[in-house]
Amino acid sequence: MSATDPDCLFCKIVAGEIPATIVASDERTVTFMDINPATRGHALVIPRAHARDLLEIDPDDLAAVAQAGQHMARTAKATLRADGINLINSCGADAWQTVFHFHLHVIPRYRDDPLQLPWVPGPGDMDQIQATGLELKEHYA
Ligand code: AMP
Ligand code: ZN
Repeated sequence: MSATDPDCLFCKIVAGEIPATIVASDERTVTFMDINPATRGHALVIPRAHARDLLEIDPDDLAAVAQAGQHMARTAKATLRADGINLINSCGADAWQTVFHFHLHVIPRYRDDPLQLPWVPGPGDMDQIQATGLELKEHYA
């Protein structure tokens, strides 16, 4: 029996205690439709075991979620004729996470859909980029 949190919305979906449109499931994951879809076919892939976020999820569960996400992406592309896919995970309230059971958004994209990149790409300060890369390299263990 994997970890569950009795107060967690997505644990309740895993347990079948609240309704969801489930597309697929396996020993480690459940894939279901998001009820506030960004585009047609927006789905969420979650581990069965409760984990708050990217920093806490078991690496084997993360791998299983990634594989299920790829399968869902291929299914959406073939079935809904999506032109592309975004895989999105938000880790922490400051990174837009609102449900604190790890989930991977699988968002089919369509050539004429209204979604926008949430930052404006532009060249950064190369000294700062290199210094930050070095700082991360030194602590990468
Ligand atoms: P995030 O903001 O990245 O934490 O994503 C949480 C997602 O869960 C949002 O896209 C919500 O629309 C979705 N969501 C919340 N409650 C439910 C629910 N009961 N069934 C399906 N999706 C849900
Ligand atoms: Zn949970």
